[in-house]
Amino acid sequence: MTPQPSSAQAIRRLLLKISGEGFAREGGTTLDIDRVRQLAEQLQQLASDGTQVACVIGGGNILRGAQSEHLGIARATADYMGMLATVINGLALSDALETNGVPTRVMSAVDVHKVCEPFIRRRAIRHLEKGRVVVLVGGLGSPYFTTDTTAAQRGLELGCDALFKATMVRGVYDKDPRQHDDAVFLPDLTFAQVLDQQLRVMDMTAFALCRENDLPIVVFDMAEDNAVVRAARGDKVGTRIHN
Ligand code: UDP
Repeated sequence: MTPQPSSAQAIRRLLLKISGEGFAREGGTTLDIDRVRQLAEQLQQLASDGTQVACVIGGGNILRGAQSEHLGIARATADYMGMLATVINGLALSDALETNGVPTRVMSAVDVHKVCEPFIRRRAIRHLEKGRVVVLVGGLGSPYFTTDTTAAQRGLELGCDALFKATMVRGVYDKDPRQHDDAVFLPDLTFAQVLDQQLRVMDMTAFALCRENDLPIVVFDMAEDNAVVRAARGDKVGTRIHN
């Protein structure tokens, strides 16, 4: 049976962006299966609340296209490698969710049909309506983009109510809290304030898409207890950015 959203729930359909760093131990460059299981547990709870969840998966724990020069690999090739890295992370997350009894579909923008469905918008929406967690991998399928931009674009085309960006810090600060002890946490911002104060939230393409199409962003710490579940219920978690 399709789970029904409870009336107290603020978010009906959610786009959750999980960066590659969420799949690795701190500073690590490989997949850490304990981290994947922790992610899956939070998503399981979200799904059981009746929230429709589409996750865009990053690949930075394995490879980012920006490393191409350092690796001596052509940029476009490195970008495709980065997109394939997201497939590895996404398959691990899907497996952990299915082990916990949560139905999933992995949909890819690059053609890897032995392990993923192709991304087809209407099919993705159908999966969401049926209560399946949709794991979106392969970015947008084109080099020179990021999975942040993918998250904004998919969030819009799938009709999501908000884009949640899971990070390793509590939310947005006036300066980098990892480098400045006096950094001030900013719980609520408008898109204009982010631009005026030159705050770093997502890459500019992703940010512009959200701003121009009025898709609110919530930046939060995935490691905080039940953060994603509480944020989806409408609790004040992390930083909310809106028009
Ligand atoms: N990428 C790409 N096109 C896309 C999405 C991703 O070329 O539409 C590549 C790009 O090289 C990127 C890598 O895939 O660096 C991994 O994605 P990202 O860096 O966004 O992952 P995250 O930082 O979220 O872990």
